[in-house]
Amino acid sequence: MPPEANVDARSDASIPAGLGARGAIDLLKELRALTSDENGAQRLAWSPVWLKAREWFQTKLRTLPVEHLYDDAGNSWSTLAGRSEKALILGSHLDSVPNGGWLDGALGVLGAFAVLRRVAAEFDGKPPVTIRLVDWADEEGARFGRSLFGSSAFAGTHSIEADRGRTDAGGKRLEDALADCGVKIDSIGNAGRERRNAVAYLELHIEQGPVLEKMGLPLGAVLGTKGVERHLLTFHGQEAHSGSTPMTTRRDALAAAAKLALEIRPIAMKHPDAVCTIGSVKTFPGIVTAVVGRCEATLDQRDLDAEVLASMYREAQEKSAQFAKEEGCTVEWSRIWNIAPEPFHPQLITFCEESIREIAGRSHRLPSGPLHDAAEVSRAGIPTTMLFVQSLQGISHNKIEDTREEHLELAIAALDRLAAKTMAWIEAS
Ligand SMILES: [Zn+2]
Repeated sequence: MPPEANVDARSDASIPAGLGARGAIDLLKELRALTSDENGAQRLAWSPVWLKAREWFQTKLRTLPVEHLYDDAGNSWSTLAGRSEKALILGSHLDSVPNGGWLDGALGVLGAFAVLRRVAAEFDGKPPVTIRLVDWADEEGARFGRSLFGSSAFAGTHSIEADRGRTDAGGKRLEDALADCGVKIDSIGNAGRERRNAVAYLELHIEQGPVLEKMGLPLGAVLGTKGVERHLLTFHGQEAHSGSTPMTTRRDALAAAAKLALEIRPIAMKHPDAVCTIGSVKTFPGIVTAVVGRCEATLDQRDLDAEVLASMYREAQEKSAQFAKEEGCTVEWSRIWNIAPEPFHPQLITFCEESIREIAGRSHRLPSGPLHDAAEVSRAGIPTTMLFVQSLQGISHNKIEDTREEHLELAIAALDRLAAKTMAWIEAS
């Protein structure tokens, strides 16, 4: 189909029958029935329901000519050995947040399963390059506050010391939860061995945002994951009686913070995909009869371009100092967390766009605001890209998370195309 063809001109012939995209959607529904309750998906990593989901997936994999292993960080690897050891990795995660959706992560795993099955059938169990399917352990970090657990161990960006100190809300240590699932915290770095022969990584995921739906497009090619600057800002003013302190002499810490809360909008809107959020504001003493003496605000800034991110950070600092001064206050900054942007591989992004056009007519390039396992794989130096499918109302991490079934079919078909192009690229490299 030519690139300019309209999405509506697509015929269902673009979804190959041998791929079993519909069958993959049936499997997603089977998984949902097995691991959800009335509040949504309950596949919390290191929990019995998550283990049940993984066991269920094993029974599906047994129908394919693959070898299976769990690495030392609990990532689940299924390998279809090819004529060449050079490997294309396809993956995502079966774990969910508590009360999560049916597609976040699971779509990428079952979509990869459909592709693996198609490749195994087409090449009679021996494709030109090796294909590996990975189900990453604990992508969500919902219980221990540590996202991308398994993929960061694979990438070698993890810190065992930091992980050792982590506990859940009930005081259970991450180390003990891992041990319950047969994972020794001291050995998780051995997952890096799986990087051997890895030449490319592809991940299909729901967008989890509203961009594709607003554009009326089912699919998009992902440019990379945005970098994040996350800070705690403390404005210091003077606590004073709300009845006796004239308006002209106040040093109101909230007033300075409030000015910044509005200013971050023009700061972000100078750039097409940048976002800035003040998500939490606390006032002290926080009572109705006192001018605010101290105000703590959190600022989260994101963009795919490191220079844009740095300039937004600088601008927010300058403006916060200016507003503090205007209100007779001072401001202090302390960094909560930051991460660099992770741009994906240009050639794979191009393949992704071509695949989307061939399957769905029109494509769009977009950065990912949320982090994904793909960012860790890319950080390890392995060429990576992601394929996004539209999320209805942009909602995720919730039981109402959903995507139209015809879009899910297109997504799996586009992943299949992308895998085929990437296999040919690996073979020629
Ligand atoms: Zn996810």
